Amino acid sequence: MLVASSRADVAHYFIDAARTAEEIQRLRVARDAVSEEITRVQRDLPKDAPHELSALLDVHLMLLQDEQLISGVKHWINDRLYNAEWALTTQYEIIARQFDDMEDEYLRERKADLEQVVERILGYMKGVASPVLPAAPAAASRQPRAQDLLLDDTMDVPLVLVAHDISPADMLQFKQSLFVGFATDVGGKTSHTAIVARSLDIPAVVGARSASQLIEQDDWVIIDGDAGVLIVDPSPIILAEYGFKQRQGELERQRLNRLIHTAALTLDGHKVELLANIEMPEDTVGAVKVGAAGVGLFRSEFLFMGRTGRLPDEQEQYLAYRKAVEGMNGLPVTIRTVDIGSDKPLDRLVGKTQDGQLNPALGLRAIRWSLADPPMFLTQLRAILRAAAHGPVNLLVPMLAHGSEIRQTLSLLDFARATLDNKGIAYGPVQLGAMIEIPAAALTLKLFLKYFDFLSIGTNDLIQYTLAIDRADEAVAHLYDPCHPAVLRLIADTIAECNAQGKGVSVCGEMAGDVTMTRLLLGLGLRSFSMHPSQILAVKQQVLRADAGKLTPWAAQVLASEEPAALL
Ligand code: PEP
Ligand code: MG
Repeated sequence: MLVASSRADVAHYFIDAARTAEEIQRLRVARDAVSEEITRVQRDLPKDAPHELSALLDVHLMLLQDEQLISGVKHWINDRLYNAEWALTTQYEIIARQFDDMEDEYLRERKADLEQVVERILGYMKGVASPVLPAAPAAASRQPRAQDLLLDDTMDVPLVLVAHDISPADMLQFKQSLFVGFATDVGGKTSHTAIVARSLDIPAVVGARSASQLIEQDDWVIIDGDAGVLIVDPSPIILAEYGFKQRQGELERQRLNRLIHTAALTLDGHKVELLANIEMPEDTVGAVKVGAAGVGLFRSEFLFMGRTGRLPDEQEQYLAYRKAVEGMNGLPVTIRTVDIGSDKPLDRLVGKTQDGQLNPALGLRAIRWSLADPPMFLTQLRAILRAAAHGPVNLLVPMLAHGSEIRQTLSLLDFARATLDNKGIAYGPVQLGAMIEIPAAALTLKLFLKYFDFLSIGTNDLIQYTLAIDRADEAVAHLYDPCHPAVLRLIADTIAECNAQGKGVSVCGEMAGDVTMTRLLLGLGLRSFSMHPSQILAVKQQVLRADAGKLTPWAAQVLASEEPAALL
């Protein structure tokens, strides 16, 4: 089953079943407003205006009342719980395809009129905030870029989502939906959309270039996430082969489940900490289920994304962080301060977006964004400190590079504590950590270790910034190389320096969950890995089979090699 994309810039999210009538009414109001506007334009046409113009406006008025458009839109809202914009663009695509198939050229050309009418309705709705947008960010989702999604109406077949692009916030929304796989035209393997998709533990292919144009509604598609391959309309032999692979995968999962309660020790007795990366507090359920030793990375920015008009206040954040802390039952939770920017923009309605930035990955992102807005940052720091009263919390700061940023961050943290003291509000102790994800940070480790209790290596960004490869750009995805000797050198030095100083160090980028990298990281002295819960057991299996002592000299050889990947 296919989810195609169109170019309309619309929100798409599921609405509450109790609010379908309200959503239909919102569309009706927009349609009536557009209808009135067209009527007014038609009335005010100059006397000498060509007759065709008035006739065209008649066509537009007719299309606005088109029964197939109206009933189809109602179906998507009532039966599928799509928001109004999503329902409208979905139905538009269906009718547009029928126009494409028409023999009569005049009728075929009416597709452009339908498109204009739909655009007008969407344009009107954009200026009017949706009263039915869910309030909580977990449920709300607005699309900051140009795409919308279409679903087939056959509910009994597994659904696959194929789109030009999906924002990370929208991907998060799909956690609650029924897709069993997805593919996008754009994006790199460590783009945040891909990361969130991976956390859903479903097959995904990103950067498939023109997939959304080539694949058609109702096509059968195989998504081979391991090979990065999409197969459209597979032959029975291929289908049977993939059916077999699927069953093998299921058996492997069941086998791995037996490791949940096994301690993560190497053959020579080194204890390894396997932590979870989460996006929302509810994700702790999955983390506990697979026996995670704690949360190594809570990407708090997902609480800030996909909202309309306002950032989460201190109380809302405090409750979310507290929920995560309590969800881990006494195990540590590492909350990273907000990492907005680059491929994780806020919703455009908040007014702080990437719009106009030449190069967002190098722009106002993460700690830079936080330090540019001290009241916002202080609100988050107070919320995290308060949550720390309910269990062990580590506070992790993303994308630091400068000593001045470190000092500003620490003094804001002191200020946040002082404010809570003054108000007599309870808070707890936190261990302080910095992410090493800019080469400048990896090259000034002593500075970082002077101020921080632990370091966490964000390999996704460290690779991006070391190799000057935008991690979200499929055009250069082939150059995004986790095994580049320069990248490995920075990782190795960071681990070695922390180990020498007795400070904690972990890797929380995608590399930590990649089983082909586990042995190398162990050999470099890493004993703490943070990854999606779905990857923990497979990495544990690697740990159980590894002899850390033997891996050390081998890792040194890999480091010294011109082609490290060939030795893995
Ligand atoms: C990283 O950069 O490796 C990381 C873990 O942070 P994010 O993927 O959220 O940028
Ligand atoms: Mg990062």
